[in-house]
Amino acid sequence: MQTTNILQTPIEYLKGVGPIKADLLKKELGIFVYEDLLNHFPYRHIDKTVITPISSLNYQMEYVQVTGKIIDVDVLGDKRAKRMVAELADNSGATIELTWFQGISWIQKNIHVGNSYLVFGRLNFFNGKPQIVHPEIEVVNQLNVSPKNYLEPVYPTTEKLKARGLSGRQLGLLTQQLLSIIKSEDIVENIPLSLLQQLKLLPRYEAYRAIHFPETLAQYETALRRLKFEELFIAQVRLNLIKLRRHKSSRGVVFSKVGEYFNTFYNEYLPFQLTNAQKRVIKEIRKDTAQGHQMNRLLQGDVGSGKTIVALLAMLLAADNGFQSCIMAPTEILAQQHFESLSTLLKNMPVEIALLTGSTKTAERKRILKGLQEDTIHFIVGTHAIIEDAVQFKNLGLAIIDEQHRFGVEQRARLWKKATVPPHILVMTATPIPRTLAMTAYGDLDYSIMDELPPGRQPVITVHRNEMQRAGVMDFVKKEIDKGRQAYFIYPLIEESEKLSYEDLMQGYEQVKSFFPEPKYQISMVHGKQPPEQKELNMQRFVNHDTQIMVSTTVIEVGVNVPNATIMVIESSEKFGLSQLHQLRGRVGRGSEQSFCILLTGSKRSAEAKERIKIMCETNNGFVIAEKDLELRGPGEIEGTRQSGALNFKLASIVNDKQMLEVARKAAETLVESDIELVLPENQNLKWFLQQSKSKTGWGKIS
Ligand code: ADP
Ligand code: MG
Repeated sequence: MQTTNILQTPIEYLKGVGPIKADLLKKELGIFVYEDLLNHFPYRHIDKTVITPISSLNYQMEYVQVTGKIIDVDVLGDKRAKRMVAELADNSGATIELTWFQGISWIQKNIHVGNSYLVFGRLNFFNGKPQIVHPEIEVVNQLNVSPKNYLEPVYPTTEKLKARGLSGRQLGLLTQQLLSIIKSEDIVENIPLSLLQQLKLLPRYEAYRAIHFPETLAQYETALRRLKFEELFIAQVRLNLIKLRRHKSSRGVVFSKVGEYFNTFYNEYLPFQLTNAQKRVIKEIRKDTAQGHQMNRLLQGDVGSGKTIVALLAMLLAADNGFQSCIMAPTEILAQQHFESLSTLLKNMPVEIALLTGSTKTAERKRILKGLQEDTIHFIVGTHAIIEDAVQFKNLGLAIIDEQHRFGVEQRARLWKKATVPPHILVMTATPIPRTLAMTAYGDLDYSIMDELPPGRQPVITVHRNEMQRAGVMDFVKKEIDKGRQAYFIYPLIEESEKLSYEDLMQGYEQVKSFFPEPKYQISMVHGKQPPEQKELNMQRFVNHDTQIMVSTTVIEVGVNVPNATIMVIESSEKFGLSQLHQLRGRVGRGSEQSFCILLTGSKRSAEAKERIKIMCETNNGFVIAEKDLELRGPGEIEGTRQSGALNFKLASIVNDKQMLEVARKAAETLVESDIELVLPENQNLKWFLQQSKSKTGWGKIS
């Protein structure tokens, strides 16, 4: 196979570049070698393939090319605001005005009445008359007398490059130069031939030519389609290789049987019937863990879909096979709640469960560390405290991570190292992400989706109210509280200033207090500046119904479970993102009573904020909301995916090219499953391509 390639030639060797421009190209655009220039794609094309008769110019046209004779030249205005106006006539019988405000003396010298010119520029109409300001203009000659036979590309550039003569269009000359020296075999095809044919994709070399210098817009579209597909396909091949090779090579502990722990719990203590989604996921986990390779499964379940019980059943399965399990949650409060709900569920079962967090007292901590080492503690629930080095297990078989967006890849990896054979990993998230995003950002994981809520849930009723309607909102909340319910008031974290957030919250607290006076009403307050014990205490008082109202910042966001709380008031809700609003709303609607979410806003809202609030009022479905969120914000902004590198597509978009992504995914899966080592002759080019482009993309780091 090929080892050196002209495309890896440093950019300074390209004719017309030289050391100074090369330096700028590197710094400004990251163009180091020929290949980088080839992958610097135009953002639009200028059509000089047609010359339009002046009489046919109309308001719909943007850039136009005309040709004709100059019939008049005038310099108008005074010294400070001089302009030159020339009149060009063609044989359609009409004229167009050409105007210059700068470089007038040069134009005067070079433009002469009676000569023929080719003119290109952005068309305006002034008093109904066609006009081009600062047109490109050249004398008609042998070369330009007939129109160009390709569209001229315009590239993204920077001010510094422009100053050095590399404008968006001048960059095109470099690309043209480059394309004139590379041959079709230099651009190695990386999609197997059969797939190219099946999907009617342009060969790679042709696609590169046509994306830069297409003859028609249709040809450009065809090239774009091919190169977008390539991006998605290559990414999916990589992800599937990682996944399948890990399946094949990773050792994993084997959960070979379903035993007494699982069965006893299932038959005697399961407090409800599982939903079909829960059953399906448990089957998937069961299958994954029985095969001797490490499970790496992402479980996406909307808030309230019942992930806890799935986690517990998986832990019981581990116990049946003689292994310990841990659950890691991102906050103390959540760890505490998990511990309590699991302890309750397990109260008649002969298993030991413990809670380990940063605030676990020394003696208790000692007891736990010993218990874990001796395997007298089977389940451990905790925060980050669990991944500390001092925590050693006798035989950890399953690690469950709740709300994974807060935990990075490295933290996952630290869990693996706690056992000689890496434990199975189940990552649970209540922030649904769209399927397309899951396929790209988490494409190396197996994932399960729980898109079904337990039966009998009443959807939360969501309404929007503005500041002027506050009194009415408070009256409503009061009525509900007087019926025995509880309410949350949530204030936004103001990112720029912790102090401002705090003041906001305090003000809110005073306001709520004035509507809900003590001693009849009791209020808890939780925020990020409190010491953990105080947070805990306030939370606990709310959980125990000692307080009816919880005033809080978004620390409350994840997972907290108080079924009697039926009102969620979100202050300044225009400041929250969609997924965060959905998360917050998920704190209510957990019991049998009808719940309400009230989105308060000021009177000024951006169009996007309005859209977010509208979506919230329309749907309770986290997957629908995630899809909208992706459309509104774009993939780069979705929490937890920024660093993934999986989304650095230059051309493809997981929002706009969903269908293509599905096709690429399928094709990649099929290919990898049939030839995981890429030994088949038809996959050799692809293999070579993957190897030589690995170092640049950072894909090597993801696992
Ligand atoms: P989440 O997925 O948000 O973590 P939880 O596991 O906290 O959801 O479950 C939410 C609530 O639903 C809990 O009170 C739980 O007991 C209950 N629940 C879970 N599964 C079922 C089910 N199959 N039928 C009825 N209630 C269920
Ligand atoms: Mg949960």
